[in-house]
Amino acid sequence: MAKKFQNYINGKWVDAASSKTFENRNPANWDEVVGVFPLSGKEEVHQAVKAARTAFESWRLVPAPKRGDILKKVGDILTARKEEIARLMTREMGKVLLETRGDVQEGIDTAYYAASEGRRLFGHTVPSELPNKFNMAIRVPIGVAAIITPWNFPMAIPTWKMFPALVCGNTMVFKPASDTPATATLLVEVFQEAGIPAGVVNLVHGGGNEVGMALVEHPDVDLISFTGSTAVGKKISEIAARTLKRVSLELGGKNAQIVMDDANLDLALEGVLWGAFGTTGQRCTATSRLIVHEKVYDKFLSMVVAKAGTLRLGDGLQEKVDVGPCVNERQRATVEEYVKIGVQEGATIAAGGHKATGDGLAKGWFHEPTVLAGVTSTMRVAREEIFGPVLSVMKVKSLAEAITVANDTVYGLSSSIYTQDINNAYAAIRDIKAGITYINAPTIGAEAHMPFGGVKETGNGHREGGWTVYDFYSEWKTVYVDYSGQLQRAQIDNADN
Ligand code: NAD
Repeated sequence: MAKKFQNYINGKWVDAASSKTFENRNPANWDEVVGVFPLSGKEEVHQAVKAARTAFESWRLVPAPKRGDILKKVGDILTARKEEIARLMTREMGKVLLETRGDVQEGIDTAYYAASEGRRLFGHTVPSELPNKFNMAIRVPIGVAAIITPWNFPMAIPTWKMFPALVCGNTMVFKPASDTPATATLLVEVFQEAGIPAGVVNLVHGGGNEVGMALVEHPDVDLISFTGSTAVGKKISEIAARTLKRVSLELGGKNAQIVMDDANLDLALEGVLWGAFGTTGQRCTATSRLIVHEKVYDKFLSMVVAKAGTLRLGDGLQEKVDVGPCVNERQRATVEEYVKIGVQEGATIAAGGHKATGDGLAKGWFHEPTVLAGVTSTMRVAREEIFGPVLSVMKVKSLAEAITVANDTVYGLSSSIYTQDINNAYAAIRDIKAGITYINAPTIGAEAHMPFGGVKETGNGHREGGWTVYDFYSEWKTVYVDYSGQLQRAQIDNADN
């Protein structure tokens, strides 16, 4: 019997009003049911928002350092349960253990950062233009947050949002992706164990069109933090605009790694393999375009092809496996479709190119790590987010052309350049239109204490991570304290004439 999971509303584990459920299966072995989850809808969202609204009135008054203390405990419990969570995560979404451990670690790092931020949350004190008057700007909480997350970083992404939101004094309803509801449930269990008060964190399982949309439309939700596809992000933005909700969107990417003729090719090779095929290419920061200087194109392409063919596909719980399955059947079908489209457009399959059904793979959604060569900027495989183990390789004549090609996309999340020339590196930092640029490192590898996010259709200008995320989860309140004992009119009583 598969384990049955519940929603978490107002400090209690509860079933959905209807008895409908959905299953979560292991993408490496479709016969294995990881769990059965409540298929919730508007009613559960309403209850959860109500609980969060009520809890907000007391949570906002808990001193921020005390809110931070709970996050410190959350970090400690995540540390103790790291291996258990990583294993469950691999079973429910497929990426290899090395990476799911890293995913949990990112949550731990974010917890400790947020815990310490509880003792900062700095504001500003500013001199007044009038005598006997004191000015300051302080951060205040906003209210109830809807936290809507994807499946590719089931622990890191929710924690990037929830921990800073909580330290700032907000309460929330968390709607995880329906491909990764079990990891989300463990995270909420950890909150419970750490002593989060009832109603501060609520969890509602279910589909995006039902639970997600109900949250976006709910009049008592004040802010929405969404990570997912650009198509859904745009829809959320439009609906939220009607009630002027604050919205943070972290969306798709089509990230490029540039390899110049002076690059250390061995290093660039390690980088591109990790960037393109880590997490089976299902990272928002995955390297999906490789832009290579013509002088080293043939050599570097053959190096990539040789190595891509040696990557071991399989169940991510086995330590020797390099690349796990696609997250579900639909995602693998998308990958197969894009490979076909690439070939029709004139690209050649230099490595992989097919779904993988060999020994031990038949029951999972595996696809070979695939390299498409001879890709040009107009092809769909160079423009659209595939979100799978497919690398499109393009040839350029110069740094200027490489940067033009890298920028020729509607997205702008991550980017990378391999070069030994400091002038090339700084020109790339200046000219690549992306939220993140790596020099001599792959397009993936965000650190929890640095701003994370993209430009153009990758987002709407907010950043997660680091110190910047605290601007999203708090409102600035400007305070004037006049201790002169008389009416002082700014711009009038202190004017020279
Ligand atoms: P998705 O947009 O399908 O779903 C994301 C979340 O939104 C899920 O919880 C889903 O249930 C919910 N949702 C779906 N439709 C909704 C609706 N109409 N209203 C409200 N919620 C809705 O994305 P996905 O397939 O889970 O994730 C892959 C995408 O996420 C890729 O495009 C990837 O680039 C992006 N992503 C971006 C970042 C980033 O930080 N920029 C990080 C990871 C993933």
